[in-house]
Amino acid sequence: MSDAAIVGSGPNGLAAAVTLARAGLRVAVYEAAADIGGGLRTQPLFDAEITHDICSAVHPMAPASRFFREFGLAARGVELLTPEVSYAHPLDGGRAALAHRDLETTCAGLGPDGERWRRLMAPLVRHSEGVVDVMLSGQRALPRDPVAPLLLATRILVHGTGLGAARFTGEAAPALLTGVAAHAVGKLPSLAGGAVAALLGHLAHGPGWPLPRGGSARIAEAMVDDITAHGGTFHTGRAIGDLGELDGYRAVLLDTGVPGLLDIAGRALPARYARALRRFRYGPAAAKADFLVSEPIPWADPAVGRAGTVHLGGTHAELVREENRTVGGVRSRAPFVLLVDPAVTDPGRARPGRRPVWAYAHMPNGDGTDPVELIRSRIEAYAPGFGDTVLAARGMSGRDLEAYDPNDVGGDIGSGAMTIWQSLARPVPRLDPYRTPLPGLFLCSSATPPGPGVHGMCGYLAALSALRHRFGVRKPPPLAPVG
Ligand SMILES: Cc1cc2nc3c(=O)[nH]c(=O)nc-3n(C[C@H](O)[C@H](O)[C@H](O)COP(=O)(O)OP(=O)(O)OC[C@H]3O[C@@H](n4cnc5c(N)ncnc54)[C@H](O)[C@@H]3O)c2cc1C
Repeated sequence: MSDAAIVGSGPNGLAAAVTLARAGLRVAVYEAAADIGGGLRTQPLFDAEITHDICSAVHPMAPASRFFREFGLAARGVELLTPEVSYAHPLDGGRAALAHRDLETTCAGLGPDGERWRRLMAPLVRHSEGVVDVMLSGQRALPRDPVAPLLLATRILVHGTGLGAARFTGEAAPALLTGVAAHAVGKLPSLAGGAVAALLGHLAHGPGWPLPRGGSARIAEAMVDDITAHGGTFHTGRAIGDLGELDGYRAVLLDTGVPGLLDIAGRALPARYARALRRFRYGPAAAKADFLVSEPIPWADPAVGRAGTVHLGGTHAELVREENRTVGGVRSRAPFVLLVDPAVTDPGRARPGRRPVWAYAHMPNGDGTDPVELIRSRIEAYAPGFGDTVLAARGMSGRDLEAYDPNDVGGDIGSGAMTIWQSLARPVPRLDPYRTPLPGLFLCSSATPPGPGVHGMCGYLAALSALRHRFGVRKPPPLAPVG
């Protein structure tokens, strides 16, 4: 019998398994799906030679987070390719705003707002490790860099309340910033959106927004290799429905959403804790479209074609209006769309006349509409002729996404609404949010702090909690490659 069972093999389940295995425990990972990886799967959909990232595609948080800094992706052969233009934001009239990795080039492109952009981002870039360690943490420990929380607080208050947008004079800078805030998939402006804009916005100018060569699955593969090398085992096609199936393990870590925790352990959980879990709220859905296209996207502004990520949402005012509509449960005709043409950054993802395009639109939670036509028309608005390049397409509504991965409740890819309160108190307000009241049962998914994204920190921190409370191990194990 192993020491610890992990239920779910998303980036957080794998990060928990890596940490426990490296502490010398015997670890078994149970995954409901046929493949390991959760949000880190890359597969062919239409053509055996062209692979598509089914969920995550771009990874600003992976190289930045403490877990992956120690794990060392590059040392394990995961090559992170970083585009010179982190993200682009097309505007009407064939213009676009660009966030270059180089902060000065970005500022130069923003005209009179360049200086304000520099003042917003430069201090965050200078204190990047501290900023990341505050944002991508359990948010319960004292920061190592005391300046970082101050920088964050001022920016979150200004840019999370709408004051920030009013300070810009042009259209480009507020659109750029609001496009990043919209990654929080919620009400705008909001403190959570301001926090996300500060984190992802400054990373765009430092280490950048990279894509792993060959696709997101390369990150999962590196973690699987490490777990296997340290004695861990994997059991795919094993959906765990009840804690009783895992009798005998000293620790069970669930990489599930809150409903998964309630399904698996609900009957055994104290009523008060279970009631608090049932109050957990979900945000809007992502509805995904994968395209196989014949050529690079014919952007009206060709500079957009150099960007790793593209935000389609129009001006700041349009974005705010449509995001708030979506949060209110109304299906927008012009929703925010995030788009990645992976071959821009990783040319190996394309073959002559064939390349993948990844995109998702924000939709109301639980929406079942196939988004392909809507997303195609949103792209077409900024890239006339795009529709003619499409060879094949597949849509996944929010409901389809939940069927694919039960953690994406109603299509909410954040495992819970990203409000400031739910960012800190996920899944319920507790000093140790990873520990449930049941001895030996831990939650390690992105339904715990610091929340969504591929950073591994929820899994890592849950594993440290399990090591402390179940195995008496207080010292975090080394995670760097052995030898
Ligand atoms: C369309 C989409 C695009 C995204 N884009 C990005 C991006 O570009 N960059 C980024 O950083 N993040 C992105 N994300 C978010 C990111 O993928 C998630 O935040 C991350 O995967 C969460 O990791 P996790 O380990 O908590 O859960 P998941 O990755 O959701 O993994 C959970 C796993 O647990 C399994 N599971 C659940 N219940 C059970 C059970 N009872 N028994 C056994 N197995 C079970 C599931 O099958 C799944 O494999 C995206 C997500 C989606 C869906």
